[in-house]
Amino acid sequence: MSYTERVLDLLKAKNSNEPEFIQAATEVLESLEPVFAKHPEYEEASILERITEPERQVMFRVPWVDDNGKVQVNRGFRVQFNSAIGPYKGGLRLHPSVNLGIIKFLGFEQIFKNSLTGLPIGGGKGGSDFDPKGKSDREVMAFCQSFMTELCRHIGADTDVPAGDIGTGAREIGYMYGQYKRIKNCYEGVLTGKGLTYGGSLTRTEATGYGLVYFANEMLKDLGTDFTGKTVVVSGSGNVAIYATEKVHQLGGKVVALSDSNGWIYDEEGIDLAAVKEIKEVKRGRIKEYLEYRPNAKYTEGKGIWTVKCDVALPCATQNELHLDDAKTLVANGCVLVAEGANMPTTLDATKYLQENGVYFAPGKASNAGGVATSALEMSQNSQRLSWTFEEVDAKLHDIMVNIYKNASAAADEYGATIGGKKNLVIGANIAGFMKVAEAMMAQGIV
Ligand code: NDP
Repeated sequence: MSYTERVLDLLKAKNSNEPEFIQAATEVLESLEPVFAKHPEYEEASILERITEPERQVMFRVPWVDDNGKVQVNRGFRVQFNSAIGPYKGGLRLHPSVNLGIIKFLGFEQIFKNSLTGLPIGGGKGGSDFDPKGKSDREVMAFCQSFMTELCRHIGADTDVPAGDIGTGAREIGYMYGQYKRIKNCYEGVLTGKGLTYGGSLTRTEATGYGLVYFANEMLKDLGTDFTGKTVVVSGSGNVAIYATEKVHQLGGKVVALSDSNGWIYDEEGIDLAAVKEIKEVKRGRIKEYLEYRPNAKYTEGKGIWTVKCDVALPCATQNELHLDDAKTLVANGCVLVAEGANMPTTLDATKYLQENGVYFAPGKASNAGGVATSALEMSQNSQRLSWTFEEVDAKLHDIMVNIYKNASAAADEYGATIGGKKNLVIGANIAGFMKVAEAMMAQGIV
């Protein structure tokens, strides 16, 4: 049995009730196999056993009062996974599906993603099973203030800097920041994704979606083409999906489908993004309302967005939303490229099928790293008490995404990792992200 197999068995035994964490760890550990043949010192230092165990995990009660005067109780989480290369950094997810296993999978992925950005940030993640959907602004504020009242003991500008994620947008970050400042009496860059009037960075809102498309564009270049004239399907209609769509349109491609958790829309003429922004960013409505703006578009209730014929697919909603059957349909329909905007949206068997059938595939930890990279740029601006222009931040984001692509593909080349006639970027990204963290851990002794 190899070193990675032994550690995976151990992880499965210890964390059997955390399937998403096991899934993420399996993907990473299996792809690191060739590294340990070259670096036996890592096994000697039990690097894998240490990197798969969070440095610290906090779970706490979040009581708040709803609009009817009733006391509600949610569960809060912060997993501080690895600080070898910088303060913990990663988003806060607010969604009813949140549990410790989900937060651990996200925190684990974050270690390698943050390393890939080339910036000094460690890996962490947090959130709550609170559902902001359908709540009044006052209820959301009550929850956020209670959540931060506990979380503030564990975070700080040089310790742990949370950000947004599913369900946590500018409104939630604002309420949390206000409460942090009030309790700590300290104006520091403890959260990213802040509003522009109080330390936020231009381009942060657009960063994950734009970064995803910059990354996919590098992949297309390697295939000798670009976005011009390409038909693109994007799942989700939240922050990542909206700005991925915007950048695809700017680069000459056409996004024809978007979704939310209720269903999906198809607009043959190309998605009218102004309408989607109004529905999702202003009215906080459902994607089916799109038909009020574009009566010729089609709405389908439930799943099925991957049946839409496309050249490029960008899953930008949530984990495990693209299954083996969807992968088969995409291949049959001639899709040439899948780049993940969400975290782990593609199941392991679907990823393998896509890759083996010649689809050029980008794992989220590489292709969606633009958000956290720009968060790190927000931290830099806060520390310097400066603010850069949209163009400056966008140019840095673009360079970072190009570099992530170069590093992941160079690692794939170094280890001879190809699949279906393409570079295996899953292996490349995992190895490139892992090496920097492993070297830092080796240098810092047994901690
Ligand atoms: P948002 O909350 O803005 O949007 C999420 C979108 O996905 C919504 O359209 C939502 O639909 C849909 N969705 C969520 N859960 C489900 C589900 N269980 N089934 C079907 N659809 C679902 O989140 P973001 O756009 O910020 O995040 C999307 C993904 O990208 C997540 O995986 C996140 O971790 C990842 N990510 C985000 C980054 C960021 O900067 N925001 C950075 C890196 C990764 P509905 O409104 O109906 O719930």
